[in-house]
Amino acid sequence: MKNYSIGIDLGGTKVLTALVNKQTGQVVNFVKKKTKKDKGTEKLVRKMIESIREVLEDSGMSISDIDSIGVGAAGQIDRENGIILGAPNLDCYNLNIKNLLNEHFNVPVFLGNDVEIATIGEMKFGAARDSDDFVCIFVGTGVGSSIVKDGKIMFGATGTAGEIGHIVVDLNGRPCACGAHGCLEAYASRSAIEKRIEGALKKGCRSCISDYLEPGKAITSGMIQKSIERKDDIVLQCVNEASEYLTCGIASVINFINPKLIILGGGLVDAVDYFYNKTIKQAYLKCLPVPARSIEFRKAELGDFSGVIGAAFLTCK
Ligand SMILES: [Zn+2]
Repeated sequence: MKNYSIGIDLGGTKVLTALVNKQTGQVVNFVKKKTKKDKGTEKLVRKMIESIREVLEDSGMSISDIDSIGVGAAGQIDRENGIILGAPNLDCYNLNIKNLLNEHFNVPVFLGNDVEIATIGEMKFGAARDSDDFVCIFVGTGVGSSIVKDGKIMFGATGTAGEIGHIVVDLNGRPCACGAHGCLEAYASRSAIEKRIEGALKKGCRSCISDYLEPGKAITSGMIQKSIERKDDIVLQCVNEASEYLTCGIASVINFINPKLIILGGGLVDAVDYFYNKTIKQAYLKCLPVPARSIEFRKAELGDFSGVIGAAFLTCK
């Protein structure tokens, strides 16, 4: 096995490509490119190919120095054949990533999903490096999770286990991107908070988050953090609500699986300590008393890099 692999995190808003030293977990070099779903999959694939060439060039390496290319995509995937079956955030359907990349690079290409690669990253070099049994929950554009048992991710019968974002927390609730109503993701994600804040602003409520907004650009976790530091009522209200819903989801996971350890990560958790602290405090109180006694919470440690580091370790299932 060669020491280096390329990890690609294909998210809803960006393609993050990194050259990873697999011995140390170090990101040697990385390239970040924005994705816009209206530009089509051809452009997305071209961006991935360009990014791979750039990280290799910047590191003074060639593809022959590389062990594998691992790609994690936000969506449903066919691991065996390397196909993205459906990624609504990327507007990407039935895309054979493995074949497309193999046309340009003669190394093994592996595909996983975004939560899976972030979990592998945390398991190899992050907050779960000393643990074989845990649950990872990532809160960002959506809410995703992975269950790890004996050092292995549980995929379930069709590979979709861990979809905590689609646990229903309100029977007649808000519509979710999956087509159902009342899913946790529609309440506890950064996008959900964003919609609530935008709704309040449209109604004429005043919030200091307006100081950071740019026309046509999304509300970021960083803007939410800055507004909380300024004790903004509207933002605090929306974040408290999201945290309360997330707590319900986490308490359900604790009651159902009885894990030793839960790791919370993702853009919102990374940027907003208030959200993390409030959520774990409430989760202890909301779950059953016996599992509450032993549950431990940790914050993910690798931030934006957890996915690319994990993707470098993808192999054939
Ligand atoms: Zn849903």
